[in-house]
Amino acid sequence: MPGGCVFCKIAAGDIAATVVKRGDGMLAFQDANPQAPTHVLVIPTHHVATLNDAKDAALLGKLLGFARDLARELGLAQKGFRVVVNTNPDGGQTVFHLHLHVLGGRPMTWPPG
Ligand code: 5GP
Ligand code: ZN
Repeated sequence: MPGGCVFCKIAAGDIAATVVKRGDGMLAFQDANPQAPTHVLVIPTHHVATLNDAKDAALLGKLLGFARDLARELGLAQKGFRVVVNTNPDGGQTVFHLHLHVLGGRPMTWPPG
């Protein structure tokens, strides 16, 4: 685990987070600064810095499927939701441990800022 990685620390239980789903090497927890009524982050529990560094297509498939199942379990599937992967500075990434944002509970706008 890279020493300074906040999401590795959350995965290890060393930093508190409100966990909403876990299993199969994945963890979902509430974003500390929610941008929608539902705003959950989904991460692989082992460290991958960015989408650029995710060489394992099976891992990416599991991550997306986990987020899709989570959205259904949270009651978002029918009305809809958004999945976002910010990547590197221009993408708005601030935590360099791969994560999906799952946002829902209000209509989303487009284009994103
Ligand atoms: P990014 O900008 O990298 O796509 O998203 C990082 C997200 O992580 C932000 O939405 C931010 O609110 C969230 N975040 C940063 N630090 C923590 C933390 O310690 N705990 C939780 N639960 N969320 C965090
Ligand atoms: Zn990490």
